[in-house]
Amino acid sequence: MCGIIGYSGVENSVPKLIEGLKALEYRGYDSAGIAVFTESGISVIKAKGRIANIEKILDTEYQNLESVCGIGHTRWATHGEPSDRNSHPHGTDRIRLVHNGIIENYIQLKKELSACDYSFESDTDTEIAAKLVDLNYKTSEDPLQAIKTSVEKLYGSYALGIIFDKYPGKIYAARKDSPLIVAISDKGNFIASDIPAVLKYTNRYYQLEQGEIAVVEKDKVTVYDECGSLIKKDIMTADWDVRAAEKCGYEHFMLKEIYEEPLAIVNTIRPRINDGLPCLDLPGLTDDTIKAFKRINIVACGTAMHAGFIGRTAIERLARIPVKVEIASEFRYKNPILDKDDLVIIMSQSGETADSLAALRLSKEHGAHTLAIVNVAGSSIAREADSTLYTWAGPEIAVASTKAYTVQISLMYLIAAKFALCHGKITDDEARQYLHALIEQTPVAVENALKLSDRCIQISEKISGAEHLFYIGRGIDYDIAQEASLKLKEISYIHSESYAAGEMKHGTISLITEGVPVIAICTQDHLVEKMISNIKEVKARGAYVIVICKENTHMDKEVADEVLKIPVLSDLFMPIPAITVLQLVAYHTSVIRGCDVDKPRNLAKSVTVE
Ligand code: GLU
Repeated sequence: MCGIIGYSGVENSVPKLIEGLKALEYRGYDSAGIAVFTESGISVIKAKGRIANIEKILDTEYQNLESVCGIGHTRWATHGEPSDRNSHPHGTDRIRLVHNGIIENYIQLKKELSACDYSFESDTDTEIAAKLVDLNYKTSEDPLQAIKTSVEKLYGSYALGIIFDKYPGKIYAARKDSPLIVAISDKGNFIASDIPAVLKYTNRYYQLEQGEIAVVEKDKVTVYDECGSLIKKDIMTADWDVRAAEKCGYEHFMLKEIYEEPLAIVNTIRPRINDGLPCLDLPGLTDDTIKAFKRINIVACGTAMHAGFIGRTAIERLARIPVKVEIASEFRYKNPILDKDDLVIIMSQSGETADSLAALRLSKEHGAHTLAIVNVAGSSIAREADSTLYTWAGPEIAVASTKAYTVQISLMYLIAAKFALCHGKITDDEARQYLHALIEQTPVAVENALKLSDRCIQISEKISGAEHLFYIGRGIDYDIAQEASLKLKEISYIHSESYAAGEMKHGTISLITEGVPVIAICTQDHLVEKMISNIKEVKARGAYVIVICKENTHMDKEVADEVLKIPVLSDLFMPIPAITVLQLVAYHTSVIRGCDVDKPRNLAKSVTVE
């Protein structure tokens, strides 16, 4: 959360900072701000709300603002309400600082700084870090020393971008547990929270590691390790195309990303099928290692955790290995029972989710083998896990995850086949047949599901006025119901719950009144009859029932108010076309309700705080 950008170069930094912030806005949009070197010192422009507000101020009050070096920030508030005064950059006339993370001991530090005559203008933890750097800079007049002394006192997580009045043209960067890259180009160098912020100018970058401090200048970058020794870093190259982070004619990123699902599945799965069989090709994860795992834990947050539910169903069904799915923020504090017989799969689109990263480290401490499934190359989780599988979905910009989920579940299906083979639960022929269906049929089914967009709009029109709504399903349909429900509530703000269909009668059915929409996901042949009974139960109490079922499922008219029939795959793969239409329903509902689809309130992507 929070996006940081900085540029030192030969061109005007202001438009670069603004463009960079726009590319990072998915990380938070409570406020934005920049600080740039000018002839009269450091100028700061910051305001509550979107980056557009900063642009307005620049257009009216700072028309000729030019500067070759500056830093910027887009905020997802943790400490202190979204407001002008809580906006970053924070600091004094001497130093300005932007921060992503949480300073956990800020109250103690605030007391110490107050004793040194510091006063405070904001409610943020960040201001405390800024004033601490200022104090140490006043004493040492050495920026590097000031940062080193300051970060030693900080508990919590931080990625910092700092500029010092007496050092124009230099940006200092430091990080611990929050991501930060240094990107290099012929016309200057950058710091950024994420690659899309700089992709327009360069795809070459360094990943800053824990405790490292970088000094970024127009023609050079110097990096020091935790002990202050100079280090040489390897340059990485991002293979994302700049257009991948643009809307390309779609009204919203979310819609574009849903339409990218067929290709994302192909890109992620096809290279991992060799001679018709699953080929993970991972160092440290040989067939023998896989054979030795007795248990699997899938640890993740939000949508990625929901992908874990599908993974659990697929792995247990095919490989007959017990799988637990855990919420990362719970797992990390519960002293989990793990040992070398456990595989822990950590799933995260960004690879930077703070809780998932902590869960990964904990699992390693317990001696479990860790497998990361992430979308962002070089991210912290990818680098720290024992083995890493990338989902090649390309950048996902909309806050509500869509294509990343689809490829996570596709990869889960592949892993299920691999584990089933290694554990002798399926034959090569069965694996070949299964993978043929996965790679040849599922992308086509998604293409065909996308053609149902108009029908999805009709459904969205029916539910868009609802205050409450339920998704119900059984088995893997319940897994998908949970993700469908999250998608709807996060972008349309309709209160929605997902329930195991057979569980409604144990309490929740009391919430069904005349007209309450119930979306019943009904794609599993052996459960259709059972689902119809549960549908009847809610319908008898006045629910407005929308059924999602296979094209070839016979659904009597009287069962439901609406039936949305989707392309047919084998039961285990049905979540793929089902989620496509359910994502479209959520999307169109959000549009009809006039919500900010790509940037829903209170949310941010890449959750790098606890
Ligand atoms: N804690 C800082 C603030 O509230 C930064 C938040 C973040 O990185 O999400 O301003």
